[in-house]
Amino acid sequence: MSINSQPWRVSLSDIDIGEAEANAAAAVIRERWLTMGPRTREFEAQFAQMHGSTPETPLHAIAVTNCTAALHLAYAALGIGAGDEVIMPAMTFVATANMAVALGARPVFADIASETEPTIDPAHIEALITPLTKAIVAVHFAGYASRMDEICAIAARHDLPVVEDCAHAPGVPYKDGYLGALGAAGCFSFFSNKNMTTGEGGLILTGDEARGETLGLLRSHGMTSGTWKRHNERPQSYDVVMAGFNYRTDEIRSAIGLVQLAKLLDNNAKRAAVTARYRENLRDYDGAQVAFEGYEGESSHHILPLLVDEPARRGCVVEALTDARVQTSHHYIPTHLFDFYRSEYGYGEGALPRTEAFSAREITLPMYPTLALDDVDFICNALRNS
Ligand SMILES: *Cc1c(COP(=O)(O)O)cnc(C)c1O
Repeated sequence: MSINSQPWRVSLSDIDIGEAEANAAAAVIRERWLTMGPRTREFEAQFAQMHGSTPETPLHAIAVTNCTAALHLAYAALGIGAGDEVIMPAMTFVATANMAVALGARPVFADIASETEPTIDPAHIEALITPLTKAIVAVHFAGYASRMDEICAIAARHDLPVVEDCAHAPGVPYKDGYLGALGAAGCFSFFSNKNMTTGEGGLILTGDEARGETLGLLRSHGMTSGTWKRHNERPQSYDVVMAGFNYRTDEIRSAIGLVQLAKLLDNNAKRAAVTARYRENLRDYDGAQVAFEGYEGESSHHILPLLVDEPARRGCVVEALTDARVQTSHHYIPTHLFDFYRSEYGYGEGALPRTEAFSAREITLPMYPTLALDDVDFICNALRNS
C-alpha cells in the first residue's frame, strides 16, 4: 500500500521521516535490545534539555506509549480519582477528558478565551473552581500557548496543580521557559500527525523529582527495578510499591525519536513560514481569517485553524476546497457535545458559547514543514473563489 495513491492535490499533513530514522531503527534491531534501555534514557535526557532542563533546575522526562498514557499517568500521579473535578477546555482531542473519566473524576469544561484565541479562558477557570476541584488542564491548541501566567497565578491562589496537554506544542519557548515545563506536568504526543513522530509515542515532563519518580514507577507496574537494570546488574529482587500500568516505550521508537527531535525546531520554523504565508494571503480577505490573529508569543504551528466569517458558509467552503482536491479537517468537535459527555454529565448546546461558535466556523487547512508556499497560494485562491 502506498500513501501516494491518495486523491488529494494537497493533503492535510505529511511527515518528515526517511533514511536517518530507518537506519536508527535498524541499528536497534541489529543490536538486539528492543525494550526500554539506553536510547530511551538518551531520548528523555535530550527532550528535557530541549525544554529548558539545566543542572540547577532539572526536568524529569518519562517516555511512554502515547500522550493518552501520558495524561493518564500525569493525572494519576497528582492523585486525581473518584469524585474529583478537573477543569479543562472542550476545544481539544477527547483524550484530555477521557483520561480524567478513566480515573473516576468529572471533567468540568471551561470556555475558550475568544474565537480568535481558542485556548482556555482563565476567568472561566476561576469561576468553575469548587472544593472538589483537583487540577486544571491547559491545552496549547494548534501549538499556541494558553495564557499560562494567568492560569498558574489562579492555580497558585487555589493551591491546584496545572497539567499542560502539549500534544500540539513540542519545542515552544514561553517567557523564560518552555510549554510543558510551566506546571506540574506536561504531556507530549509523538503520534504520526504531530510535529515530531515515533509512530505512536508520548512523554511526560515534570520539574518535581518525587513526581518524576512516581511517574516512572506508574509507567511500569509500580516495580522498583526495570528489565534493563535486572539484565545488567547482579541478580536482585524487586518490590511493587504502587499499582501501576505498562505504558513503557521501546528502543526502536526512542531511536527514531532522537532523529526526529534533532529536526523539530527547524521544522517548527518551516511551519511558521507556512502560517505566515497563509496570513499574508488572507490579510485583505473578508471571508475567512487564520485563528490567533495578533497572537504575540511563539508557536509550534501544529495545525492551521481557519475561521470562516459565518458558520453557514463552512460547508460550502469545505466543498470548494474538496473540489480543488485540498484536504481539510475540523479541530475540534467540542468534547462536551459528544454523546457520552452529554448523557453522563448533562452537557449540551449553549454550555460553552465561544467554544461552540469557534467550532462551527473552524476549518483546518493543510500544514506541514515541507508544504510548498505555492501550494499555500493555490489553497488561498481556491478559498477566495469559494
Ligand atoms: C493527539 C492528541 C492527544 C493524544 O495523543 P496520543 O499520542 O495519540 O495518545 C491528546 N491531546 C491532544 C490535544 C492531541 O492532539
